[in-house]
Amino acid sequence: MTQSEGEAPAEPPVSAREYSRPPVSSKEYDMASKDGLDPEFRARLEVFEDRLRQVGIKVKLVCGCRSIQEQNRLYSLGRTRPGRKVTNARGGYSWHNFGLAADYAFVVGGQLTWRGPWSVFGRIARECGLEWGGDWKKFPDRPHVQWRKGMTLARLRRGDSAGA
Ligand SMILES: [Zn+2]
Repeated sequence: MTQSEGEAPAEPPVSAREYSRPPVSSKEYDMASKDGLDPEFRARLEVFEDRLRQVGIKVKLVCGCRSIQEQNRLYSLGRTRPGRKVTNARGGYSWHNFGLAADYAFVVGGQLTWRGPWSVFGRIARECGLEWGGDWKKFPDRPHVQWRKGMTLARLRRGDSAGA
């Protein structure tokens, strides 16, 4: 928190978890959109992106809402299907499945990259009331932000509506 925001802060190496994500040139990243995200979460993301822009950090959304079938397909990779493990969550166990999570990459010189000022990204996410995956002790996931909306995944799986 002491470094000034203009300089590239010293960042810890990108974790194995992040290396297991598809390359940043992946086509699915180009198609990522905020469609299907919770409207209030979406509004929070707009504020978050604006605040990042204000400190000179450009990001691109690379994953928004994910269907339960798509989550199960991803979960099967490295388990029942060939490939590397890309997620620890099966269908219905990710905030992405309920439109309450988003993943970002940095844009540097027009290219997407996983390398960038993650600590600033995380601090601004927290300031915007978002939970940052980089704060997770067990499986840190720095590209990931989510908003629980006062809900639990168990309630969302049961189909309870958010709020109240
Ligand atoms: Zn995510």
